[in-house]
This record gives sequence, structure tokens and C-alpha cells, in this order.
Amino acid sequence: MKSYKIAILAGDGIGPEITAEAVKILKVVEARNAVQFELLYTPFGASAYFECGHPYPDASKAITDAADAILKGPIGLNHEDSKKIPVDLQPERGALLPMRARYNTYANIRPVSLPNGLAHFSPLKPEIIGDGIDIIIMRELVGGLYFGNKELGRDANGKRYVRETLEYTEDQIRQILKAAFDVSMRRKKRLHNIHKSNVLKSSVLWNEILEEVAPEYPEVEVIPMLVDAAATHLCLNPGQFDVMVMENMFGDILSDQGGGILGSLGLMPSACLGPEKAYYEPSHGSAPDIAGKNMANPYSMIGSVAMMLEYSFGMLAESRNVWDAMQGVFNDGYSTPDLSRGNTQVKLISTQDFGDRVAEKLQAMPKA
Ligand code: NAD
Repeated sequence: MKSYKIAILAGDGIGPEITAEAVKILKVVEARNAVQFELLYTPFGASAYFECGHPYPDASKAITDAADAILKGPIGLNHEDSKKIPVDLQPERGALLPMRARYNTYANIRPVSLPNGLAHFSPLKPEIIGDGIDIIIMRELVGGLYFGNKELGRDANGKRYVRETLEYTEDQIRQILKAAFDVSMRRKKRLHNIHKSNVLKSSVLWNEILEEVAPEYPEVEVIPMLVDAAATHLCLNPGQFDVMVMENMFGDILSDQGGGILGSLGLMPSACLGPEKAYYEPSHGSAPDIAGKNMANPYSMIGSVAMMLEYSFGMLAESRNVWDAMQGVFNDGYSTPDLSRGNTQVKLISTQDFGDRVAEKLQAMPKA
């Protein structure tokens, strides 16, 4: 029997609620397959700061180091509460970015997928959605503005200034582009290269390296698009996209827009892959506005489990079953409130109920 250690970082806000549902699904997967999951719970994020004095304590580092894969809930506090934590120890700066750097998880895969039957959840008109939305956003995750030098100071006149540096090495750019071409080869062989080379020199270098890498993938059609135009096209004609590749901050913003065109950020799971380790997390934040109310959508967290099964454990068929089980719950007419949009046909259910129903559907599926 295969055995895997999974570090569980439940996080803040809705994190623990949706993590509990993801763990429910891991237990069902374990019961149906010749596999054992050792779940290693450890603090991470704002809750870890208040509990242990650091958002990514050494004990948590030891656990994530030892784990075969990491399942991470969203972290962070609302705007006011964030001020209770020193700037450098706030969850993203003190925990998330250091973990990404620690494991060089450079390839962030974010599916923006609206399967058949879910089109009514989208705010887009049916004629825009067409046959459905099925995009993979490939976001570079360990470079760019988020990781460059940061300096806050005062000039000679005592005026405050800030300086943040957007840095990329050619190796960093090449590795994410290759990852994106590889994903394109497994799909429609159409890659949108999202850039801003009319303004940013980083995009000029990005595009140069793309031209060097592209000949290795002659079957892939590359379509360049400026990031601002891409934001519009995502709303007006999402069907043109298959795989989109972009640098870190562009990917952060456009993938949230991806959640918007689906109808909820709760539909946005993700995989963050490095050379030796991967972690899995929803693309959204800790949703403090709905935390503790048992109304968050756990789809993104359960979808992150499905991605872990696929990318870390090679359990492709069971991963598909998890997606299908979630789709089955929607097909039965149920959804969490974020997706209802005043639709009286939808039967509203809680976070826990959604997880229970997915678990039930998965249990009933034929084993791989
Ligand atoms: P958010 O993504 O938490 O929430 C934006 C909106 O989407 C809210 O209305 C929220 O209720 C809704 N939403 C998000 N996930 C949902 C879900 N699963 N089900 C139903 N509705 C959902 O963004 P925010 O409010 O701007 O940020 C809150 C905190 O999260 C901040 O501290 C921010 O820094 C942090 N954050 C963390 C991550 C991460 O852990 N990777 C990512 C983004 C933001």
C-alpha cells in the first residue's frame, strides 16, 4: 500500500471550514484505494502568528519539509485586523511568499473551468459562454514584483517613498514558459502569452525568451496579448483561451477575474508545483466576511485535493472522480450561497452539506 504524508495548513477565516471538507474527501479516497494518508496538521498564517509568534513557525517548516505534498487553506485577515500584525509578519509576506520561495513552486496552475450545466452560475450571458469556459491560467509564482527588493523610506526632504523591484532571471522565465508549453501540448496546443512589452522591460525579456523556447514546441500556436486587453477578452470572449501564461502579478489579478467570470472565487482551486515539492490551495483568500458561518464554497479546496491526487500522487482516475462528484452535487441542483445569485431554482446548502454530498457521491462511484 502506498503511503503519503500530507501537511495540512488550515489557515485563517474560512480556511479551517473548507479544509475540514477537503479532509473528508481525502478520507473517502483513502477508504476506496490502496493508499494511506498521514495528515500532519500545523499552524500557518495569521492564526500561527497569534499562536506561535510567527506566521510560518519553524515547527511548521519542519512539517512541510517532511511532507510529500502540502494542502493549504487560505490565509489572511480583514483590512483592519491585519494591522494587528507587523507588516513583515503579515500572512502573505511572512508565510506564503517564504513557503513559495522555500520550495521554488514556480508553476501555479489555475483552472478556470465552468463545466456543462454550470453556465447559469456565471454572470456572463449564455451567448458569451457558448460551449462553456475551460481555461488554464499558468502563473509564474516565485519571481517578479512580489519577490524583488522592497524599500520604504524617506527622501532628503523627509517625504516618504516606496521602491519595489520587478526582477526576473532568464532561467525563471524559461522554466514557467516550458511548463506552460508542456500543459498546452496536453490540451489544444494554443498558448496565449500575456505580457506588457509596450511598457515593461521585463515583458520584453519574457517575450524574447518565449521566442527561444517556442521552436521546441512547433505544434503549439502562440498568441501574444497585452495584459490589459486580456482582461477585456476574458469577459467578452473567454472561449478563445485554452492555456494562458503570465508573470506573477498579472496572474494574481487575471486569475481572480477568472473566478469572477465563473460566478465565484469559490470555484478556483490551484496547484503550485516546484521541482521537488508541490502545494495545493484555493486561489481565493480567507473571505473574512463569511468566516464561521458555514456558508463558504469548499469546491476550490476539494478541487485542490483533486489536483493533488493528479499531480503529486498520480491518481488520475480518482482525481477525475472527485471532480465528477462535485459536478454531481451541482447537477442535483444544490449550491452554496455564493453561486445562487438570486436563482430560486438552486437549493442552497452549507459548506458541510456540500462536503457530505461530494463524499457520498464519491463513495458511490465505481473504484478505478
Ligand atoms: P477573498 O478572496 O478572501 O474574498 C473576496 C470575495 O470572495 C469575498 O466576498 C468572499 O466572501 C468571496 N469568497 C472567497 N472565497 C469564497 C468561497 N470559497 N466561497 C464563497 N465565497 C468566497 O479576498 P479578500 O477579501 O480581498 O481577502 C481576504 C484575505 O485573504 C486578505 O487578508 C488577503 O490578503 C487574503 N488572501 C489570501 C490568499 C491566499 O491565502 N493565497 C489569496 C488572496 C487573498
